[in-house]
This record gives sequence, structure tokens and C-alpha cells, in this order.
Amino acid sequence: MQTLIRYIGDDPEREGLLETPERVLKAYGDLYGGYGVEPANVLKTFSAEGYDDMILVKDIEYYSACEHHMALFYGRAHVAYIPGEKITGLSKLPRIVETYARRLQNQERITTQIADAIAENLSPKGVAVMLTGVHTCMCARGVKSRAETVTFAYRGEFRGDDDLVERFEGLVG
Ligand SMILES: [Zn+2]
Repeated sequence: MQTLIRYIGDDPEREGLLETPERVLKAYGDLYGGYGVEPANVLKTFSAEGYDDMILVKDIEYYSACEHHMALFYGRAHVAYIPGEKITGLSKLPRIVETYARRLQNQERITTQIADAIAENLSPKGVAVMLTGVHTCMCARGVKSRAETVTFAYRGEFRGDDDLVERFEGLVG
């Protein structure tokens, strides 16, 4: 971190920066805390007890870092599934988003990984994941744009069922 501070033209020995490297490393512990977390340990399952309609947790805030610039990107994740025999705790869906977001990433991969983790661990009838993202590497550097990127992953019954997809997209706005 001291090398980087020197590289951008500042002095790591000046008062305001003395403890910055340590603080940044501590912040990295949170920002990159998704490594080594096993999705199967997050997505504990129990019986659906006959519940067979869509389960949707929307507006899950996430923060991630793009693997090309280590610049923050952030937005909202909307995660839905139609259970088979098993469901998971509602709080586990934000946790699985966090597990994949807190790594060096791209938005497309987080979207895919969330959908696949739910498909693999819950054996649901269908999964739908939508992420919106504002990428600071895009807006704070050359391209001065607050453009939002939207990514989708559909598995199982959501694939090819326009009515179901329309219902999901209507619910998440
Ligand atoms: Zn980037």
C-alpha cells in the first residue's frame, strides 16, 4: 500500500496517511471476505412442506470489486426460486449474494454463480437472478457515465416460460 501511495505521487509518511495501509488491509478483509466461504454451508436446507410457488428476495444491496481495476461496483440483487422438496432460510439468499460479491469479480459471473449455487444446493424447479450494477471504474475514469448494467440468469422453469419471467421482472420492477 505504501508503494502504491508513492506511485500515485503522495507521501505515505505524512500524518493523514500513516495508518492508511493498515486500514485498507482491514477494509479488504470485509470487501474480499467471500473467499473460502462454501455455498453449501450457507444454503442450509429444510423441507418446503408443500410450498410450491416463487420465493423472491429483492433489493439485496451488494458491493463488489471489478477484477480488472479493483474498483468498486455496487447495486442490487434480486433472487428468486421455485422450490422442489427443499427451501432455505430467507436470510441465506443475501448471504449467498455476499459470498460471491466479496471477491474480485465481474457482474456477469456473480449473477451466474448465485443462480448455479441455488440450483445445485436446493434442487429447485427454477431459479431467477437479476443484478443491477454501477461500476466506478466506468464512471470515475474515462467514461463519465452513471450507466447501470443489468445482468440476468435463469435456470429450470424460468427458461422459456415468458409468463414466469414477466412475473419475476414485474415484481422486481
Ligand atoms: Zn473495471
